[in-house]
Amino acid sequence: MVEPLGIREHGYTCREVVDVASEYVEGALPPEETTLFELHLNFCDGCFTFIDQIKQAAALSRRVSEDELPEPLRLGLLEAFRDWKRS
Ligand SMILES: [Zn+2]
Repeated sequence: MVEPLGIREHGYTCREVVDVASEYVEGALPPEETTLFELHLNFCDGCFTFIDQIKQAAALSRRVSEDELPEPLRLGLLEAFRDWKRS
């Protein structure tokens, strides 16, 4: 264990990072808090990995959401599936 982890001088504590992780990933943190948050990530491998995983999960869930697809693309996919079933 590296001792400085979780100490105030790095902006956020690990606990606080976990608490506001979803806000950070959604870009809902105020800019000055985002700076402190990222400062902590620079010092703390554990939190960096944690946030990285949340970011990937968030990106993934956005990608699979049907509502997020542009309409022409969505219709094209539906067409493709119809043809695929027919053949
Ligand atoms: Zn941390």
